[in-house]
Amino acid sequence: MIGEFELIKKYFHRAELAPSLTGVTEVGDDCALLEVPSNMQLAQSIDTLVEGVHFPFNCDPKLLGYRALAVSLSDLAAMGASAYYFMLGLTMPEVDKSWLEGFSDGLSAVSQQEGVALIGGDTTCGPLTISIQVQGFIKKGKALKRSSARAGDKIYVSGSLGDSAGALSFVLEGQHPATVVDKDICRLLNRYYKPTPRLALGQWLGGNGATSAIDISDGLLGDLQHILTASHKGATLNPDIIPCSDALIKVCGLEQANRFAMTGGDDYELCFTWPENKALMLPEALECTVSHIGHITKKMQLVNSHTGNDFNMSSYTHF
Ligand code: ADP
Ligand code: MG
Repeated sequence: MIGEFELIKKYFHRAELAPSLTGVTEVGDDCALLEVPSNMQLAQSIDTLVEGVHFPFNCDPKLLGYRALAVSLSDLAAMGASAYYFMLGLTMPEVDKSWLEGFSDGLSAVSQQEGVALIGGDTTCGPLTISIQVQGFIKKGKALKRSSARAGDKIYVSGSLGDSAGALSFVLEGQHPATVVDKDICRLLNRYYKPTPRLALGQWLGGNGATSAIDISDGLLGDLQHILTASHKGATLNPDIIPCSDALIKVCGLEQANRFAMTGGDDYELCFTWPENKALMLPEALECTVSHIGHITKKMQLVNSHTGNDFNMSSYTHF
């Protein structure tokens, strides 16, 4: 049997999970001690994933570790913050060494890729639940909020939408990206399990004049509505130009792909607003496409620019 402290040391205090510890004066005590640079604000967010609710039973632990950290980092991306640290609250029913090894490897992959260090956490026994709190920095007063969209602003989304919703039925069947034969279904599964937190895009947008942003976790219509409500504005949206991947269209057909792109969650792309009269020229180094999908309006309604009618709101809610 491996003891609690030995377990933490072996799986969570490993070098691969500490790629950058600048600004951390101490870990491993009752608290981690951090320095916040003088012209910066600390951006923090926490996300919890519960087995059977947010991911299927018997999920590959490596994919789960990857997804849990990537999803949490997406909130920092949405506000234009850089990512530095994370803390892990792990509740598990038993100590399963191969599960812990896989989970730790999945966390390490994202930790290395994004340069974020695990600086503490809590380990308890119970139904499998993963809470990850992320911390980053942002120049004082420069956060990309939901509340600052202005009438006339252009609305954009990054990447393509709907892939994770398209993956869901295969996820629930227990399909794994490494063993599934169909390459389009494999692409969808990878988008579900390995979302890309748009950190570089968010920071660039924050530094170059975007007026508001949100990450798409619950579906475009619902998440855009959060910007509209917070900004006391409305929008017109052209449903025919919401970007969908070829893989999604091949697997689900065009009509269902569009529906998933409008209302499906779990893509973790950014939806943001940009001044009307300013050209948006993204640096190639960001390796990210964006699509102009509509406009912010004064009237507090979300209107289909094709039909002139209100959208039927049907994005995912938890309760
Ligand atoms: P306490 O009893 O003071 O709450 P713990 O026994 O929970 O402390 O944790 C001991 C140390 O190990 C702390 O520094 C804590 O941050 C760290 N830790 C506990 N669980 C994890 C985990 N899952 N990942 C990373 N660090 C952890
Ligand atoms: Mg303590």
